[in-house]
Order: sequence, then C-alpha cells, then structure tokens
Amino acid sequence: MGEDKIKYMIGNIMTKHCLLCKTEKVCGEFLVCDSCKAKFDLSPDESDFIENFLQSSYTKVGSKERLIYMSSSTECVLGNCRRFLNNFILSVYNNSCDPLDILAIATTYARMYAAERPLAIKYWELFLESPTDLPPITNLFGAKLYLKWHLYSTFANIYESEYQFDKAIQMLKKCIEVDAGTNSSDYIRIGDVYVKIDTKAAEEYYLKTIENENVTEDVRNRCKAALADVREKIQRGYVYRPRKAKQ
Ligand SMILES: [Zn+2]
Repeated sequence: MGEDKIKYMIGNIMTKHCLLCKTEKVCGEFLVCDSCKAKFDLSPDESDFIENFLQSSYTKVGSKERLIYMSSSTECVLGNCRRFLNNFILSVYNNSCDPLDILAIATTYARMYAAERPLAIKYWELFLESPTDLPPITNLFGAKLYLKWHLYSTFANIYESEYQFDKAIQMLKKCIEVDAGTNSSDYIRIGDVYVKIDTKAAEEYYLKTIENENVTEDVRNRCKAALADVREKIQRGYVYRPRKAKQ
C-alpha cells in the first residue's frame, strides 16, 4: 500500500459490507465495492469522484439531511457518476421510512426519465402524507432545490405531464400560497392547465381571479391578457389533445 493510499484512508470511513450489494468487501475498498462500481463503467477519475462524494456524504452530512444532500448534488453531476448516484440513492434508501429520505427519493425520480414519473408521484404523495416540515437545508443546491416553491412547482409539472391536471392545479395553488401571490406566472400556469381540461373552465378561472380583490395588479393584468387568449381559443373551438394517450 503506497503512502498516497494511506493518506487517502485517513479521515475516510470504511464499511465491512458494500453499501450497494451488501456483500463483504475486500481490503482497501471503502463504501462501495469495486464490482458494483464496475457495473457503471466508471473511469478511475469517476470512481475517485464517487468515493469522495460518498465519503463526504457519510462523514460531513448528518443522517437526517444526507439523502437530500446527495440527491440535490447529483443535479450537477453528469453521465456515469449521475447514473451511479441515482442508483445508489434509490437502492440504498428505497425502504427508508424517514420522510426526508422519501422526499429525496421522490425528487431523484423526478429528475430521471419520463418513465419514472409515476414513481416520483408515488414517493411525493407518500411524503405529503407525513406531517414533517422541511428542515433548514445547509448545502447550496439543496437549499435551492428543496425550497417549498420549487418542490410544488416541480411536482406540478410532473402531474401535468402525467395528465393529472387537478393535482397539478393543487400544487400550483400551493406555489401561490408559499409565495403569498407575488409570482404572477403561477396564476398563468394554472390557467394553462385549465385550458387543457376545458377552455370554458379556464375562462371561468380567469374571470374569478380578475375579480379577486387580493391579487396584485400584475396578476390581474396578466390574467386579463390570458383571458383574451382563452376567449379567442373558445371562439375557434380549441380542444387540447394529449400527444399520447394516458396508459
Ligand atoms: Zn457491491
């Protein structure tokens, strides 16, 4: 064992079993065994990156925030490393009952392929069932990605993509709530979803919002413009057609 390797081991933790496949590791492997890493075609640099990343996640981040830290950090990692970390998060924490772990799983699925959207929804709804509030999140990306507005907005998009329009609207209403109605785009996003449900419903929504005394001038003006668009759509008999039928 060279001096560099010894230096590297100081301050690192090792586990007896690979965190991923649970088999007993051979000497010199840290948290994940070499054969698990090999499945992801990691280059030596990528392998080092993964090991360092896991080491800091397990030593510098408390267990409560760990998965959120990991999940949010994978956002700025690409290629094989990202595939590896997504897989790690989903397989190691799949059965965790901790609400924050469940949330991190939901957001990990949310950033993956369209085919994973139903799983993103499943874990998101599981998270919503728990009474836990979000903790103050200390890492930079985590703090941004786990802002309430950002979460509701992300899952509004996911519901909309899955043609669950009522739930998309529910999420957007939450966006407005946490923002105290300051973001006029959230109002328009709701209108856009209503247009997909039924243009008459969209018209009714905009009329109600314009009459609402509590909305800002900006919101009212944008809704007036959007109302004009919707009425034009109604006139030409516009009907939203999904690109593919819902399975
Ligand atoms: Zn392994």
